[in-house]
Amino acid sequence: MNTFEELGLSQPMLETIQKMGFEKPTPIQAKAIPKLLEDNTDLVGLAQTGTGKTAAFGLPLIELVDIEHKIVQALVLAPTRELCLQITKELNAFSAHNSKMSILAVYGGADIIKQIKTLKKGVHIVVATPGRLRDLIKRKAIRLNEVDFVVLDEADEMLNMGFKEEIDEILEQTPDEKLTWLFSATMPPDVRRISKEYMSEPFEISVRGQQIANKDISHQYISIYPSERTEALKRFLDFDPASFGLVFCRTRRDSKDLADQLMKDGYNADALHGDLSQSQRDRVMERFRRRQIQVLVATDVAARGIDVSDITHVFHFNIPDDLAFYTHRAGRTGRAGKKGISLILMHPNDGHLIRRLEKTVKINFEKATIPTGREICELQVLNYVRILKNAEQSDELTDFLPTILDELKELSREEVIERLAALSFNRFLAKYRHAPDLNKNRRERSKSRDRNAPMKRFFINIGRIDVENKGQFLSILCKHGKISGSSIGKIDMNRNFTHFDIEESVANKLKDNFKKVSLAGRDIRLDESEPRKDKDNFKKFKKKKKKGGGSGGSNWKNKKKKRF
Ligand code: AMP
Repeated sequence: MNTFEELGLSQPMLETIQKMGFEKPTPIQAKAIPKLLEDNTDLVGLAQTGTGKTAAFGLPLIELVDIEHKIVQALVLAPTRELCLQITKELNAFSAHNSKMSILAVYGGADIIKQIKTLKKGVHIVVATPGRLRDLIKRKAIRLNEVDFVVLDEADEMLNMGFKEEIDEILEQTPDEKLTWLFSATMPPDVRRISKEYMSEPFEISVRGQQIANKDISHQYISIYPSERTEALKRFLDFDPASFGLVFCRTRRDSKDLADQLMKDGYNADALHGDLSQSQRDRVMERFRRRQIQVLVATDVAARGIDVSDITHVFHFNIPDDLAFYTHRAGRTGRAGKKGISLILMHPNDGHLIRRLEKTVKINFEKATIPTGREICELQVLNYVRILKNAEQSDELTDFLPTILDELKELSREEVIERLAALSFNRFLAKYRHAPDLNKNRRERSKSRDRNAPMKRFFINIGRIDVENKGQFLSILCKHGKISGSSIGKIDMNRNFTHFDIEESVANKLKDNFKKVSLAGRDIRLDESEPRKDKDNFKKFKKKKKKGGGSGGSNWKNKKKKRF
């Protein structure tokens, strides 16, 4: 079926959804709507967000509710407050032609007394989280004995979140002859059990992966090692000062750590994850909605149903474990006709996952380029200059103008402009002066550094006996020297000392910062040494040794032979 007219919806409803911009039914709507309108049937829909499932159950629900009968006739259960609000918003939109329809969202963390008062006035449809609904039942604030329809939305997620008991208790309270419509992205045994226990011969529909393609989202990826992921993310944020973004992480810990790091580096960031209480989550969401937070770092579960308009970027700090989550994450941007970017920061070994994602969700991904330090500095200074150009002039400043002009009289127009621009430029230049091009892999970068940047060689009294490997050595240098690992070149490590190359431009900084460093109670000595012997010198050295010129090398070998 290709049109909504063929599905059996009423004329006023057809007009309402047409006004909402729905042109033709999605596969789940085409299958579910006629069935739910005509047959008294239970339903199991294997579908996730983005398939149009809310309208698949919502449109029939609005049509079937008896508007003259102001009692709870339909119950929709959803895992999170955000999803409850989103469903309620959509159901309200579907009933725009019917002002008498009363739909109430009830969820934890909000004022229960207010919810009880509204329930007392009488509502037709309740959209609830299981925990809060159970509380209301216990307080005898809601009666479910006249419920004709129960919708379990995102059933797998509700069970994942530990709402098993609540769901059982709630369903026990509803009449046996009600109809149950269950939607779930996956079908784990617990969801099967619910469908077996509470439903009879449900009509089954599966539309996994058939998401509504949103042409306003540009899907992109970059290939980056985990050690440089945060840096790459910051580059995208710096490159687009007006960005308003959501970053998805796999675990609570990752999202907290990333948000902390971003805050430490001066970004307006915060985290949203399951370790927060409902009221803490609400506070974070409120600040995000008001744009007091520019980047919200969230886990998949906590971000379910986030409905904030104007999100410009969705960053996937890693590819989701379940590829089906990708569309759900990406769907937070590109809303209401606005353009959005969904960008995966992919591990270089995960190219096959992008190809699999392209096949399963039928999306084409583009490889993005990570902004370079130079590009960011250029963009930021232009941005600043534009702000300067458009700044509002103040009459009150007129009195001070002669003094200001006098103060600046030695500077030409160009000099004033240059200095003003430098105010913004220098801040970013300091941050990005030595920033490597993250689009190149490390080998390419070190090659180009060998070619371009002048290097110095240093001796340090840290060797193999002190550290486990060169990585650990490098991190000691970076941490105490306050330099970036990319400024370090070749490292030659010996038993109790090491020689290494470092870019000349940061050599003094390293020396200064290492003046008072001690490790395990031992003072660390850092001295400049002779430049590294190049390969030709090394070959000559080896030849000399063959002729019997060398000394230490053969001794060492002999010793080793003796020992074994
Ligand atoms: P859902 O999967 O129910 O979360 O829906 C995803 C988004 O698609 C929501 O913003 C809906 O308003 C929108 N939507 C649902 N059905 C249609 C349709 N037939 N045509 C266009 N947009 C739709």
